Amino acid sequence: MSDARSAPTKPRRTTRKRRDIRERMERAVLDRWELLDDEDIAIFTIRRPDGSEFSSFEAGQYTMLAFWDQPADDPRPRQLSIGSTPLDLDHLEFYVILVRDAREDGSNVPGVFTGTLWRHKPGDEILYMPRPAGRFTLSRTSQPDAVCVATGTGLAPFVSMARTAWHAYKETGQVERRLTIVHGVSYADQLGYKDELERMAADPGFGLVYIPTVSRPDSDPNFAEGMGRGRANDTVRLICGKKMSGRVEPWLPDEPLAALQERLTPDGAALYLCGNPEMIADAIPVLALL
Ligand SMILES: Cc1cc2nc3c(=O)[nH]c(=O)nc-3n(C[C@H](O)[C@H](O)[C@H](O)COP(=O)(O)OP(=O)(O)OC[C@H]3O[C@@H](n4cnc5c(N)ncnc54)[C@H](O)[C@@H]3O)c2cc1C
Repeated sequence: MSDARSAPTKPRRTTRKRRDIRERMERAVLDRWELLDDEDIAIFTIRRPDGSEFSSFEAGQYTMLAFWDQPADDPRPRQLSIGSTPLDLDHLEFYVILVRDAREDGSNVPGVFTGTLWRHKPGDEILYMPRPAGRFTLSRTSQPDAVCVATGTGLAPFVSMARTAWHAYKETGQVERRLTIVHGVSYADQLGYKDELERMAADPGFGLVYIPTVSRPDSDPNFAEGMGRGRANDTVRLICGKKMSGRVEPWLPDEPLAALQERLTPDGAALYLCGNPEMIADAIPVLALL
């Protein structure tokens, strides 16, 4: 007879499958779906099936979204910044770009989440993580100015911040801090939220300066007066007196240029960067020299 207690212990094989995180997510319904003129970019909303409100969040935070029918080899949800305001919790809004070539090898395999999203339609089920997360929020600064630089769909958290501040301004006539939003895109038809941000910026009491900038203006029939030229990080370089890094000489109309020069100071402004990691990597050391 052997004594099980004294027998050498064999390593136990772990055969348990990792739990699918989607089991912890809640069901929502795809609601409004709007494509920009560039049809690879969408603004969409989700609502809860019973019409009740989502949990509160702070402007600038993100949640995670997924589908049950996304490719089986990658069940992970994706983070998406919330573009709507926490003052209106009956829906959540997102600003998203379709990833067409996720492997970046020309095979044109679409992104797991965005490829699935583009196949769905309003009324379909989508999963969301009930607790929004993230520290990319204005409550982290006490500076009187927030200068926000976005590329592409990196604009979403700033839309949420602007909408939230706009609600407060309309109710109280007060502005906690001035927002400056630089939105860099390749072509003007990728400027989501342009009309809404321009409307807010037209109210001088609100203090929003909105600066759309287009990095391929010469081949863009929609490039128009009032838009800047060049990439978002080169706009930052322009303000900081540094040489451009892209191919298009950065240029801004006089008014936004003067506003940005006045506001983008180390003493008065908190800086928020969101979007293309290359833009962020380029802008940080340039801004550090201010
Ligand atoms: C905190 C946070 C907030 C985010 N908010 C948003 C948002 O508001 N809107 C939004 O569109 N995306 C946002 N993203 C990116 C998002 O989470 C996904 O990575 C993106 O939607 C692609 O997912 P996918 O499953 O379709 O692609 P995947 O199958 O995961 O393929 C990703 C591959 O596509 C490449 N790729 C090309 N373009 C992009 C791109 N624009 N984004 C990501 N990968 C790209 C990547 O390099 C990578 O190789 C956010 C990410 C984080 C971390």
